[in-house]
Amino acid sequence: MKLPFREALNSMTAYASGKTIEDIQREYGLTRVDKLAANENPLNCSEKVIETVRKAAANLSIYPDSNSTELKKAIAAFYGVKETEIMPTSGSDEMINMLAGTFLNPGDETIMADFTFASYITASKMADAKIITVPVRNFALNLEGMAEAITDKTRLIWLCNPNNPTGTMFTEAELYEFMSKIPNTVVVVYDEAYAEFVTDPHYPRDSFKLYRQFPNMIVMRTFSKVYGLAGLRVGYSFAHEEVLHNINKIRSVFNVNKLAQAAAVTALTDQAFVKKVIDLNNEGKSYLYKQFEEMGIMYVPTEANYIFLDVEKDCNEVFKGMERRGIIIRPVKETFIRVTIGTMEQNKVFIKGLKEVLSE
Ligand SMILES: *Cc1c(COP(=O)(O)O)cnc(C)c1O
Repeated sequence: MKLPFREALNSMTAYASGKTIEDIQREYGLTRVDKLAANENPLNCSEKVIETVRKAAANLSIYPDSNSTELKKAIAAFYGVKETEIMPTSGSDEMINMLAGTFLNPGDETIMADFTFASYITASKMADAKIITVPVRNFALNLEGMAEAITDKTRLIWLCNPNNPTGTMFTEAELYEFMSKIPNTVVVVYDEAYAEFVTDPHYPRDSFKLYRQFPNMIVMRTFSKVYGLAGLRVGYSFAHEEVLHNINKIRSVFNVNKLAQAAAVTALTDQAFVKKVIDLNNEGKSYLYKQFEEMGIMYVPTEANYIFLDVEKDCNEVFKGMERRGIIIRPVKETFIRVTIGTMEQNKVFIKGLKEVLSE
């Protein structure tokens, strides 16, 4: 075809969403399929949220509030910040794209780890920016290396804490030390999608307010993980008013749909559900660590709801073997896989399947 597809697309591939649960059931004649590939919430979401969504569905013919007013109010009250310092989006994914669209010009440099969230790559490529990758050190972000990689062309740095897919975190002291080295002309995107799962006391707990001290910082959170609303698409970011004012220029008018706005407001009110999710995650984590130790498997201790492990066998082969047994995991690279911590029953199914696949 002779159509003018942008050059940037040549180095891009569409997200491989893989087979659906239904595809796998059909293909292997299975009734049970456990999806432990996308860090989704094994407890779905709060019952209160389901009730809210049902009610909000009463007038779907009316456009949603383009400013997500009630949701901004709810987030502002929950975190003790101003409504003008918050931007709800259609998942953090939308914000990632908008940040690239707001700050990156063709040829600008953007820094990220080699093992990190893939959406940063797509967004940066769409902006025709040059990606500078800094290898992880002991599976954790190499903050010193990332700061050293800054040149006069650097415009934006992507930090993920805890990091996906490795599950490692850096401390508040490390974040401050890093920020003190960053020129105020470089934007730092700080993605905290899994913040609620962190158990380490040195995690930067008040990071959502850091844009006050560092106006070049944008902090992203999401309702997709601990709140279990991945299917509705709603995330939120904290940033300086002037930053949000500029991002707002490229935001699509009705970016957060009506059901998502209503659901997120209610989700914040049910912290008992959040606690249940975190407790289950911690229980699953201990169980899986113990099993991996007994099996002699190297795993990276996690601060999130997934574990990164070295199965010492080609990850795609392990993926196939697991899939045949109705267990979907994420093959990452070489002999590394990532598995989402599920219900205790799912964790046991996963271990049983993994033992079989590794002894094949
Ligand atoms: C899951 C995830 C998100 C959240 O994405 P949504 O678009 O909000 O669903 C953001 N960042 C990372 C690193 C994630 O793993």
